[in-house]
Amino acid sequence: MDIHTVTSYRAARRRDDLRLAPGERLLGGGTWLYSEPQVGTTGFVDLTTLGWEAVERTEAGLRIAATCTIAELSALPESIIGRAHPLFFQCASALLASFKIWNVATVGGNICRSFAAAGMVSLAVALDATAEIWAENGEERTEAVADLITGNGTNTLAPGDVLRAIDFPSHALDARTAFRKIALAELGRSGAVLTGRVDDDGSAVFTVTAATLTPWVLRFPGVPSAAQLRERVEAASDYYTDPLGSADWRRGVSVVLAEEIREELAS
Ligand SMILES: Cc1cc2nc3c(=O)[nH]c(=O)nc-3n(C[C@H](O)[C@H](O)[C@H](O)COP(=O)(O)OP(=O)(O)OC[C@H]3O[C@@H](n4cnc5c(N)ncnc54)[C@H](O)[C@@H]3O)c2cc1C
Repeated sequence: MDIHTVTSYRAARRRDDLRLAPGERLLGGGTWLYSEPQVGTTGFVDLTTLGWEAVERTEAGLRIAATCTIAELSALPESIIGRAHPLFFQCASALLASFKIWNVATVGGNICRSFAAAGMVSLAVALDATAEIWAENGEERTEAVADLITGNGTNTLAPGDVLRAIDFPSHALDARTAFRKIALAELGRSGAVLTGRVDDDGSAVFTVTAATLTPWVLRFPGVPSAAQLRERVEAASDYYTDPLGSADWRRGVSVVLAEEIREELAS
């Protein structure tokens, strides 16, 4: 794609470099930005030159830099992640991605693009991850990724906000997890991505993404009964229709996949 409106490129080296001039746009891996015309964009500011450590173990859990690529994330070993390790590769694979996209697309770019079928949103939401956001005025805030996404392609980020990192808490990384995904075409974009998790204290968390416009996080004190889970999954109010599946289909397959996850986690 020729991005014919863009006439400048800046490699960011420090936080001050992230102040955007009119027409400038933050650049992650560029896999979406370069894939269609960006009318109104005249310059890119590259985040990948900031030198952020891709993965850090913290006291609270695991920090993934926004500039960590999906390939890097999906290759992390269990010794770094913990018991929830399979979910990282599973959610990365939920992204319809060619080899090229897989290797340059960033975790932050995927979350900030905020498509319903964003595999990194599925992962973050499944594991109660939070986003550290740098505002242009120098302030910082933390938001649950589940709250950040407001629709298929929309989020709470203000112009100039930079997603710095995603923090995964230890209690979720230590959980037993299960994952299901369905797409209408074998290599098609995800129609529904469902996850389940049982923490050490016995509490259970199920999530619905890709099938709904916003992520749904369903919490239970323990593994729910089939009827309890079905009721909550069916009740999600924003199953949507597009060429990749109707709302009714998305609701129906979500119920089936959630039950499969429930049975797997209960066994
Ligand atoms: C063939 C193809 C298939 C695709 N399939 C999928 C799919 O299945 N699911 C899906 O979700 N996407 C899909 N995409 C879209 C896109 O490739 C992915 O969402 C990808 O993960 C975006 O990451 P990126 O680093 O390349 O983002 P970029 O293209 O660099 O940026 C995406 C957006 O996020 C902003 N941004 C990037 N990083 C930050 C940050 N740290 N802080 C604030 N804003 C930021 C950019 O300004 C831009 O608006 C597909 C694209 C193509 C071309």
